[in-house]
Order: sequence, then structure tokens, then C-alpha cells
Amino acid sequence: MKSLKENFQKIHIVIIGSGIIGKFNALELSELGFQITIIDPAQLKNSSNAALGLLMGNIYQKKKGRSWDLRKQSIELWPKWIEFLQKFNCKLNIEKPLIQLTTNEEKFKKLEKFIYEINDLNLRTLENDSILIKNINRAFQTNNIKGIISFQDGRIDATSLLETLDKYLNHKKINFLKEEIINIRKSNNQWISTTKNNEKIKSDIVILCNSLQAIDLIDNLSHNIKLKPVLGQAIEVDINDAEVNLLSLPKQFNINGKNIILKAKNKLIIGSTDEYSTRPEENIFEKLTNFLDKKPSWLTKGKISKKWYGIRSRPDGEPSPIMKNLEDGLIICTGFYKNGILLAPSCSKWVANEIKNYLS
Ligand SMILES: Cc1cc2nc3c(=O)[nH]c(=O)nc-3n(C[C@H](O)[C@H](O)[C@H](O)COP(=O)(O)OP(=O)(O)OC[C@H]3O[C@@H](n4cnc5c(N)ncnc54)[C@H](O)[C@@H]3O)c2cc1C
Repeated sequence: MKSLKENFQKIHIVIIGSGIIGKFNALELSELGFQITIIDPAQLKNSSNAALGLLMGNIYQKKKGRSWDLRKQSIELWPKWIEFLQKFNCKLNIEKPLIQLTTNEEKFKKLEKFIYEINDLNLRTLENDSILIKNINRAFQTNNIKGIISFQDGRIDATSLLETLDKYLNHKKINFLKEEIINIRKSNNQWISTTKNNEKIKSDIVILCNSLQAIDLIDNLSHNIKLKPVLGQAIEVDINDAEVNLLSLPKQFNINGKNIILKAKNKLIIGSTDEYSTRPEENIFEKLTNFLDKKPSWLTKGKISKKWYGIRSRPDGEPSPIMKNLEDGLIICTGFYKNGILLAPSCSKWVANEIKNYLS
């Protein structure tokens, strides 16, 4: 009798879109033995390349429902995948912990209640007299920053992750087509994906991982999926001021809703805003650095050395993300909004199970 892997080798799967979701599905399915083709005309301009890579799993306060289940599964799966991907990039890592900070007393009380009720050793309130909180308050020239710490959450450098996935996909000789798909249709039990250059690619299964554009390829009258574009922006700021010791700050933290990453001893990354538009803001420095009542003087003098943005897709009328089996051999994975990096492992696991069920 043939092994499952031998049977899977005969199945050709087309993945449309090569952001984190497309690439991660390719990784999972290729490890199961499937033949994969990824198609994308412009993979470097996608939202995955703009991501800060924060993994907000355990720190997420709603501990039930689908969103939590997906987060929980991803937190469990990430260490296994990192270990696997380290064969292709030994530096790939999850930088832990993750710290959530606020200057709002009411919000802090909610965080404290959450930590008390959850009673998980990986989640703690940061005591006011802890060195960390003292350093943070000193650096931000205030005394009212409080917060919690999650030892299990953290950050993966998204650029490094995508490059590592590319190395893996090259190593596995995964077929990559730099083309745009303009139409998909089913004919004689096979899917035909047509490129802008009228090339027709046949496959047994198609997975739509092309974010906002996924709905252009399906019959939306019957599926009724709506997506909204949400701009996410980030800046890298050079801080050349002896007044502050950035190295006394945690590697990654969120303060009053802004994500901050310590890139080097004189460099911070700050992101991201939630704008229902597709055009980046002009006054981005002001928008991203106004997270305290009074900006510390060293931040006021900071200079933007890099700025970037990405357009994320958010489901309209249903929760994020959209992972559905639309019809025989057609799967959609889109609408990952703020959490595509975090949720990539649980998404690909779900897809693999759907495909195994479909083929059995
Ligand atoms: C500033 C910023 C910060 C973020 N920070 C985080 C974070 O800290 N943690 C986290 O988990 N997430 C974060 N995100 C969100 C995360 O980046 C997204 O959820 C994730 O990138 C979605 O991945 P995706 O593969 O679905 O989409 P994308 O990365 O957008 O990829 C879709 C791909 O589909 C391709 N495509 C489109 N149409 C077609 C077509 N017709 N044919 C072929 N290909 C097509 C596109 O070229 C594109 O490459 C952030 C996003 C931004 C913008």
C-alpha cells in the first residue's frame, strides 16, 4: 500500500499570493508531500514585508472563542516551526518577552484583573518598584507608566522570517511564478488559474492567499465575503541623545496602543496606526510618537531614518481571519488584519486538515 506522502505527491496545489500566509501554507503542505506552485506578481510589496512581527498570543485578553483558539494553537506551534526553520537560518528566533504598558489607570486595573483571573505563571503584573518599570518611566520622563509582561509572547523579525521561508521553498524547489492571476475556474475536476499573460495553470486544489484581491477571484454573489483595507504604518527613528539609555528599555513593548521595538542602541521602530484608507499619512512622526501626554525630549528630537506602510485586509461583517472551504478544492485564507504573522502556523494547520479531509 502506498504511503499518504506518496499519494499526496500526485496532488498539485496552486497557492495564489506569497505573503506570510501563502508561504506558510506552502511550507506545511510541501512537508506533507504535495506538489506546490506559488503565484504572485509582486511579493515584496505586500503587507507581510511591512509587519513588525509581534506575537500577541497569550497576552490576548479574551480566552475563549475562535480567535483565541487560533492564537493558542499558533503559540504552541511556533517553537516547533522555529526549530525546523533554523536549519535554513540559525539566527531565526522568537525574541521574548512581550510587555504591554499603559498610562491609563482604568486600563491598568483591567489588565491587573485579567492577570489575577487568568492565574498563569507566564503572565504577570509588573510591580511599580521593579527595575523594568523604573527604567521605562525614567526613559520616558514620566512616572505613571504601568503594565504587564507575557513571558510566552514576543516577536519574530518578519523580514528574516520571510527570507528564511524563501530559502526553504528554494531548497524544496517549489515552483514560483511571478504572475498575476486574473481568473480561476473549475473544469473536469481540475482548477484552471489564468494569469494576466493568459497562461493557464492546472491544479487539483487552489488556495487563495492574496489578501484583499481574493474576493476578485471568487463568485462573491454566492460567498458574500467583504473585506476592508486597513493601513498600517511604521517608522524607524534615530535617537542621538545621551539623555536616554535605550538599552535600558525592553526589546519589544506596546505603550498606549503603539508598538515599539528596540532596533539598536540608538534606533527604535514605532508602529502602527489603524486607518481605513490606503494612503500613508503625511504627519506620520507626530501620529506615531504621541502615545504619552508629554513626549520625552529625546523623542521630540528623533529623526525618521526609514518609514513604510502596508495594507492589511480586515473582514467586514465577520471576525478576522477568513478561512473557509468555498467549494471542492477551493480554499480561502484572507482577512488576517493585525495578526497574519502570529496566525500563520494555525492557518496552515487548518488548511492541511481541510485538504486531508477533502482527499479522504
Ligand atoms: C505596519 C504593519 C505592522 C504589522 N505588524 C504585525 C505584527 O506585529 N504581528 C502580526 O502578526 N501581524 C502584523 N501585521 C499584519 C500582517 O502583516 C498581515 O496580517 C499579514 O501580512 C497578512 O498576510 P497575507 O499573506 O494575508 O497578505 P500579504 O502579505 O498582503 O500578501 C498577499 C499577496 O497576494 C499577492 N496577490 C494579490 N493579488 C494577487 C493575484 N491576483 N495573483 C497573485 N498574487 C496576488 C500580493 O502581491 C501579495 O504579495 C502588520 C501589518 C502592517 C502593515
